[in-house]
Amino acid sequence: MSAEPFIAVLIGPGGVGKGTLARRLVDADERLWLSTSWTTRPARDTEDGTEYHFVDRATFEKAIDDDAFLEWAEFHGNLYGTPRPPAGERDVLLEIEVQGAEQVLAHDPSAVVILVVAPSMEQLEDRLRGRGDAEEHVRKRLSSAPHELAKGQSIATRVVINDDVDRATSEILSILEELRPSGRPPSKKD
Ligand code: 5GP
Repeated sequence: MSAEPFIAVLIGPGGVGKGTLARRLVDADERLWLSTSWTTRPARDTEDGTEYHFVDRATFEKAIDDDAFLEWAEFHGNLYGTPRPPAGERDVLLEIEVQGAEQVLAHDPSAVVILVVAPSMEQLEDRLRGRGDAEEHVRKRLSSAPHELAKGQSIATRVVINDDVDRATSEILSILEELRPSGRPPSKKD
């Protein structure tokens, strides 16, 4: 049993489909454990409350003081953080933004960072609008996409285009198969 889990990180602009890919990946590969992040962002109308551990700022700041996070970052005025993963045999999958991914890499340079990109900015915009966010939020997220892409390119181990969710899921599974440390046998669900 390894005390330090293998960490795979999905990054990419908001609306690119990282959340859907993350769920597909854990459904397809039982070695992957998907971390549930904490956030001070209010839940969207389209969310059922299981997407994050939704907390107020004071609770989040207390957790920072208690050193409860593997990484955390402020993104568009809200705090987001990954609780320290439990020790165990499973690989850890994170779906986070780039500042957090940099912290994970600083802590564990062997982490695999996959930058997920949309086939075009138009598609990214359509997907962002489809989530039902306020127009102001959509615009803020679109305006930060170029920075996230540039920063993401500079730290990513691989880049995957989310042109089709099944294809992109398969590509990421293959990348993880290739890059995860040896001694972890494949055990894909059927
Ligand atoms: P959203 O508000 O759209 O759910 O998420 C905004 C951004 O925060 C997304 O890029 C998402 O991947 C990222 N994010 C979600 N959880 C975490 C986390 O625990 N840490 C960091 N650094 N970013 C996160």
